[in-house]
Amino acid sequence: MAECSFCSREYSGMNGGFTVFERDGTARHFCSRKCRRNQEMKRDARKFKWAKKQGAVAKAARTPKAAK
Ligand SMILES: [Zn+2]
Repeated sequence: MAECSFCSREYSGMNGGFTVFERDGTARHFCSRKCRRNQEMKRDARKFKWAKKQGAVAKAARTPKAAK
């Protein structure tokens, strides 16, 4: 199992998905070409409903850090 670098969705390597190596050697996993393309365009995953990250961020926003 690998986690998509863009949408945070876990996927199995058997069901497609691929790994991209950055110039600095960092490995990025993508579940689909869609995710790879969005990552390349430096799009914010939070703006996409299909990206899991959105929910995580929304949850964090509801919990104020500076709550008294
Ligand atoms: Zn993905």
